[in-house]
Amino acid sequence: MSKGERCRECQQWIAASDLKCSCGFIPARVNECVQADHNCCYQLQGQRCKLPGSISHSTHVNGTWYCSGHYRSLGNPKEGEEWFHYVEQHFDEIMDQLTDWRRKLHQDNQSIIIRRKTNE
Ligand SMILES: [Zn+2]
Ligand SMILES: [Zn+2]
Repeated sequence: MSKGERCRECQQWIAASDLKCSCGFIPARVNECVQADHNCCYQLQGQRCKLPGSISHSTHVNGTWYCSGHYRSLGNPKEGEEWFHYVEQHFDEIMDQLTDWRRKLHQDNQSIIIRRKTNE
């Protein structure tokens, strides 16, 4: 069991329960955690949208993330609400599409890398 780790910046000990060092350095394990919670931050009556956030207002790691549907409906509460209910009912379908799209993107990236390598 890990008790913590040393800060890579200032060499201070960071307890496993601490999310960051007093110098501001964020350990890699916490980055993973933050990434995992890049979910859409849209909320309707205390319930959060289930989709992963894909668009952020800011480029900051802890910025506010929205799924593409809710990002588009910002400033339009009715549309946001409709999308929220749609997500509730079609969550699996939407996630399937998202994964397909990511897989395709990944394959495209791979082939670009391979092409670059063969060109050299
Ligand atoms: Zn530190
Ligand atoms: Zn959303």
